[in-house]
Parts: sequence; structure tokens; C-alpha cells
Amino acid sequence: MNYNVNEKGYYGDFGGAYIPEMLYPNVEELRQNYIKVMQEPEFQKEFNELLKEYVGRPTPLYFAKRFSEKYGVKIYLKREDLCHTGAHKVNNTIGQILMAKRLGKTRIIAETGAGQHGVATATVCALMGLECIVYMGAVDIKRQAPNVARMKMLGATVVSAESGSKTLKDATNEAIRDWINNPTDTHYIIGSVVGPHPYPDMVARFQSVISAEVKKQLLEKEGRENPDYVVACVGGGSNAAGIYYHYLDNPEVGIIAVEAAGKGIHSGESAATSALGKEGIIHGSKTLLMQTADGQITEPYSISAGLDYPGVGPMHANLFRSGRGEFISVTDADAMKAGLDLSKLEGIIPAIETSHALAIFNDRKFKKDDIIVINLSGRGDKDLNTYIEYFDLA
Ligand SMILES: *Cc1c(COP(=O)(O)O)cnc(C)c1O
Repeated sequence: MNYNVNEKGYYGDFGGAYIPEMLYPNVEELRQNYIKVMQEPEFQKEFNELLKEYVGRPTPLYFAKRFSEKYGVKIYLKREDLCHTGAHKVNNTIGQILMAKRLGKTRIIAETGAGQHGVATATVCALMGLECIVYMGAVDIKRQAPNVARMKMLGATVVSAESGSKTLKDATNEAIRDWINNPTDTHYIIGSVVGPHPYPDMVARFQSVISAEVKKQLLEKEGRENPDYVVACVGGGSNAAGIYYHYLDNPEVGIIAVEAAGKGIHSGESAATSALGKEGIIHGSKTLLMQTADGQITEPYSISAGLDYPGVGPMHANLFRSGRGEFISVTDADAMKAGLDLSKLEGIIPAIETSHALAIFNDRKFKKDDIIVINLSGRGDKDLNTYIEYFDLA
């Protein structure tokens, strides 16, 4: 069984490119070129140099001794929180801005919900001197003022999406409309392993540097490339795709995906797509998504903005349906507790998204000698206000 994308852009039953006719030329141009461009030695060289000199890669694979002792297993943390801008997202935006330049694009658009992808995009646009327009729901602009300020400081134009619920979905619609109207000079940087083919595969390839590094680093530390499990939180699924990538077809390595159960899977306020989702089409690909009986997309909820998404990327839908991936969902309360735990035991304050992945050990038991690598997808600075209110730290 192959868990990667096939030539038609599918992961098993999921994926493809379900797009309006008018978007076809843009997506097709990318599809025809992305692998060719990524394989050019010059592209590789520039990508790897920027990852090293600008992002700060390789990120450490850190053995979390006290956290491990608490749960009686060996837990390594892949420190994506130490990337420039504080999370894994920049690996992808660096890759895509280089792609855009190779394709002769001079204008970059993106959509953002909480603002993390918008900041990562604005960052690389500043780096390359390209025009940057970020679409963001009006409600999110109010909720995420510091990230809006960051984007502006980095030179981006933030455009408010005023339709519908004025959140991520509406921002995405605006970005797609922009791309249709500006097909020749504009590249659309999507921030996770979602969207029409080839986006899920392209983003997974850019993020795959994470598991490529883990293989080398674990070999040095443990004498073997393969951990027993790789674990990541899943919003759209890009940090997860990155840490799974080089282990997908290796059955010796267990794959664990952690979703946000919000206030409980059956509370009506969650983002546990694998537990609640049904097959449908969102943002141009066929995948699992949370929807009502008549196919309306359900408004998701999670305390962490990055997991607050009603679908998962097609790679993850296939990992779930095929049984290759083990899917666990974690509530707000358990995630917050795990975040505080890691802070006290290791001196590392994680992003609340990441805290979900750190929270699996109370319910999911492992063997004593198991080696588990968790993708520490981001740092908690952006979430400090949520931690402060939740634990009454002020
Ligand atoms: C955005 C984000 C996520 C969720 O996105 P994925 O594409 O699922 O990785 C997870 N962790 C952090 C720190 C984020 O910023």
C-alpha cells in the first residue's frame, strides 16, 4: 500500500482538484511545473540555504527527560518551535515563494484564520521583496490584532473579508476570487496540506524536511532511524505530514494524529474531523469534513486557532480510512493541562495546537522502551493570553 499521492492527485479515495473552471489554468500551471522546479539543483540549493541561514534548520531533536520519566516512555521533541517566526509554517512559505519566483510571479496572495500563516507569508514576501496581500475575515482581524500588526509591519496589505461568518472560510473565498482575476502575475500560497492537487503534495514535500532530519538525528542518538511512533497535532495537517512523510510506507513506525475535541466530541463544539467527518469537498479537494446531514459545513471549534478547521488534508483522510494512522482526539482542558505540564517539566512553553499532541499519554499507553517522536509544531508566545486567562496567571 502506498500512502502518498498518485499521479492523478489522489490519496486513496481522497484529494483531486475540484475547482471552478476559471481557476483551472492557474492550478494546472502549478501542477505541470511543481515537481520539475523542486527537483532543480538550483532550487534545492536556494531552499536548503534559506532553511539553514534564515529559518535556523536543522531544528534540534530534543530528548525530553523529565517529561519522559513522568510517562515511563522515551519522548523526543522535534523543535519546530525554534524555527524563525515560531512554528513549522515558514518551511512551506519559503518553499512556495521560491516556487512563485521560478514561475515568474510578482504578487503573492494568502488567506489566514488566526494569522499565523499570514505572518509566515508576509515574512517571506518581505524577504524576497514581493507584493503580499493577505485575506482575513473581519471577525478574525478583531480577534487577532497582534498578528494583523505583524503582517502590516512586514509590509503586507491585510484585506478584510466581510461576507458570511467573516472568518477563514470567507477569507479563502476572497483569495480564490482574487486568483481568478489575476491569473498571470499572482501565486496563491496555501498554508497547509489542503486545497486542490498539487497543493497537498507540494506542501507535504516542503514540510518533509522535518522527518528527513528526524531520521538522521535519531540515528545519531539511538542508533536507529525509526522511532516506534511519530505524533503530531492535525489542523489541516501540514506539521503532521512533515513528520510522517518519510515514514508513511514503513509499517514499523506507528503514525498518531491528534485532533481537537474542543469541549468534547459530542458537545457540538469540536474540530474532531476523523470522529465526526464525512466525505465531502472543501477548498477544492475531496476529503473528510464536518458537515450537517444535508452537506452544510459545520462551524468548527477549538481553543487553539490552528486546529479550528472543519476538515483535514486528503493525506490524513486516507491515513484514517485505511487504518494506517491512529487518530486520537484531545479536549481543550486536557491540552491546556499538557501545555502547562511541558512548561514546568522541560522549560518549553508550547503552542496550544502542539499541547494537544502532548496530551495523549494519560489515555494512550505505550511500552516502556518505545521511542516516540512528537512534532513540537510551535511555541506558545502567541497563546500567552489564552494561557493567562485559562490558568488565571495574571
Ligand atoms: C497552524 C499551526 C498548526 C496547525 O496546522 P497544520 O497544518 O495542521 O500543521 C499546528 N501547530 C502550530 C504551532 C500552528 O501554528
